[in-house]
Amino acid sequence: MSEIMDFLNLKKISEKYRSELKEAAAQVIDSGYYIRGPKTEEFESNLCRYLGCKNTIGAGNGLDALKLIFRAYIELGVMSVGDEVILPANTFIASLTAVIENGLKPVIADIDAKTLNIDIDQIEPLITTKTKAIMPVHLYGRCCWSEELKRLAQQYNLKIVEDNAQAMGAKSSVKGLNDSYMCGALGDAAGTSFYPVKNLGALGDGGAVTTNNDKLAEVVRALGNYGSEEKYIHKYAGINSRLDEIQAAMLCVKLKYLNQENARRQEIAELYDKHINSEQIIKPLYAENGECVWHQYVIRTENRDKLMQKLGEKGIPTMIHYPTPIHKHQAYKELNALSLPVAEKCATEILSLPISPAISNQDAIFVAETVNESY
Ligand SMILES: *Cc1c(COP(=O)(O)O)cnc(C)c1O
Repeated sequence: MSEIMDFLNLKKISEKYRSELKEAAAQVIDSGYYIRGPKTEEFESNLCRYLGCKNTIGAGNGLDALKLIFRAYIELGVMSVGDEVILPANTFIASLTAVIENGLKPVIADIDAKTLNIDIDQIEPLITTKTKAIMPVHLYGRCCWSEELKRLAQQYNLKIVEDNAQAMGAKSSVKGLNDSYMCGALGDAAGTSFYPVKNLGALGDGGAVTTNNDKLAEVVRALGNYGSEEKYIHKYAGINSRLDEIQAAMLCVKLKYLNQENARRQEIAELYDKHINSEQIIKPLYAENGECVWHQYVIRTENRDKLMQKLGEKGIPTMIHYPTPIHKHQAYKELNALSLPVAEKCATEILSLPISPAISNQDAIFVAETVNESY
């Protein structure tokens, strides 16, 4: 190794696009438009084209994007306070926060150990007369979608709200509710995040709602701007959650290179898949045709803490996404009694290896060999 490997070196990633990013920032500075201006419009229309969906609405961050979707459904009378939303136990806490902050009731489903995403076969028994939505999270960049999910939504009249914070660019092998196969355009609406570490990352906070539903889009756009469609006329009790022009300009640049960056992640995943051969390790399911954009490369092993320590001693940074299933946090005591055995067991076994587009092939092979030698 020529230098110490980082888990994710954002500076190195920005460096690749340095001159274009600086030029884009300069354009915004000179334009005089700083919030919801022409760059935001341009980015919104570029993302619509990329995903094959009709509407993109920039938001302040990913959590707000998800919150605004549920908030809009409540305004539209599709959902009411106290209704239930089914979501997976293994996700970042924001998926849960978005539901709870709207006064909706989270119903947590166990995960499938093979994909580490929600176990779609375990959703149906959780559906009650109060259930209004399912929130598949395309965790680690892996598309979570199937014919069965579509059947459930149709049969029980449920909305599918995707948490697409980790999977921008991932493609489903099964068509979405509309014409697109892209994560973020599969369900009724999706929330995404442009937090810098995401596959499509800004240089600050940002998020977006993507949807084919024009009415929903209109309400989301108003809600994120103090509930206003027309200046000083407040139709809804809204919040302030808008994408700013500088971030939109950064994202216009970064979106052009997203497929390239994701392809690099795919190459590293392939190297890991080929070179990690210890029987003590369960590798992530191989993904065909861009079904996974490898936001994280998550292995499982019974000796996770020991492996993490050994890799650390060799200079290999690793992380755990996530050490605690969402129903076991102190902040959400009302959920703590739930028992979801697969998610709880996996949380003790999972380990994320470095998969940044900034690491080299040699680094990846070194990681794989060190993993093998650690047993
Ligand atoms: C990052 C993330 C979010 C929240 O995004 P922010 O921009 O940090 O608010 C939501 N869900 C998942 C799965 C995420 O990874």
